[in-house]
Amino acid sequence: MKSCLVVDDSKVIRKVARHILEGLDFAVAEACDGQEALDACHESVPDVVLLDWNMPVMSGMEFLQALNGLNLPNRPKIVFCTTENGIAHIRAAIDAGADEYVMKPFDRDTLEGKLQLVGVA
Ligand SMILES: [Mg+2]
Repeated sequence: MKSCLVVDDSKVIRKVARHILEGLDFAVAEACDGQEALDACHESVPDVVLLDWNMPVMSGMEFLQALNGLNLPNRPKIVFCTTENGIAHIRAAIDAGADEYVMKPFDRDTLEGKLQLVGVA
């Protein structure tokens, strides 16, 4: 079973993502900010991280930078989540090491397609 860490400060987004991912047979863990996500990655590295940009405590970008600093041998794939008006962030996220991005709100087909693109679905 593949594992996915859903990182978003929105409980609704986490719930929607969990529902979709469990339907795709992923083991799902949740974090509500980048720091929680980093702590979770120290415990066990997921196959893929679904990463929000705007979060309190530690943003998606700060999480990416911290993750890069860990130099993990088994780095998780990163699918960065953004909104239409966050489109300028996509390039910065890819430059910081995100593998793919998905626009919010996403549906099952869109998310599954992105997971296939990064090789985890
Ligand atoms: Mg957010």
